[in-house]
Amino acid sequence: MNRQKDKNAIRKEILLYRSKLSKEDQINKSELMTKHILASDAFLSSQHIGLYYAVNGEVDAGSLTALDKSKQYYLPIVSNTPDQALSFAPISHTSQYKANKYSIPEPIYKEEELISGDKLDLVIMPLVAFDRHGNRLGMGGGYYDRTFSFKQGSIKKPTLLGIAYDFQKLESLAPEPWDIPLDMLATESKLIVF
Ligand code: ADP
Ligand code: MG
Repeated sequence: MNRQKDKNAIRKEILLYRSKLSKEDQINKSELMTKHILASDAFLSSQHIGLYYAVNGEVDAGSLTALDKSKQYYLPIVSNTPDQALSFAPISHTSQYKANKYSIPEPIYKEEELISGDKLDLVIMPLVAFDRHGNRLGMGGGYYDRTFSFKQGSIKKPTLLGIAYDFQKLESLAPEPWDIPLDMLATESKLIVF
């Protein structure tokens, strides 16, 4: 199998498995991951934190906004800029939402509130699969890779923290030259620092 086909086959298999998780399982496991994150140094030392709006059985770490109100949280905005990078809009309990082109809710924002990914301290990222080296397979849009491509040098900030169920771990993923690896990952059973 060529690599692209291979990646798509992995995505299909894991997403099918994930779609069959019960709502109860999703909620319970998301709560365990959220606890690992809340107790981490990376979270405690961060002020500006990127989250994502969970859809299709994705792990939901949205409860962080209620569990620690001292932080400023942001959600990604899929823009139509030429570089196709994500930008981030601040959210609060009064935020209103509108679906983007992928039917994912995005907060309604004022242009001047948007920040670029390098202004965040910590980014909590969704993923389809990960391996023990922190390689990440996403949905195939490459958005997070483009947004954090500046981290390919020696730049440490922001910390990229993936969240996933234990079953999303694969023995090894062959990274592409543009793939940006995770710094940390939370599953229901543990927090891993790569
Ligand atoms: P995902 O990370 O969502 O699993 P991929 O890593 O397969 O998706 O990337 C999807 C596409 O995004 C790739 O075909 C690649 O061309 C493009 N891409 C990713 N990062 C960059 C980048 N830094 N510059 C330009 N294109 C990129
Ligand atoms: Mg990638």
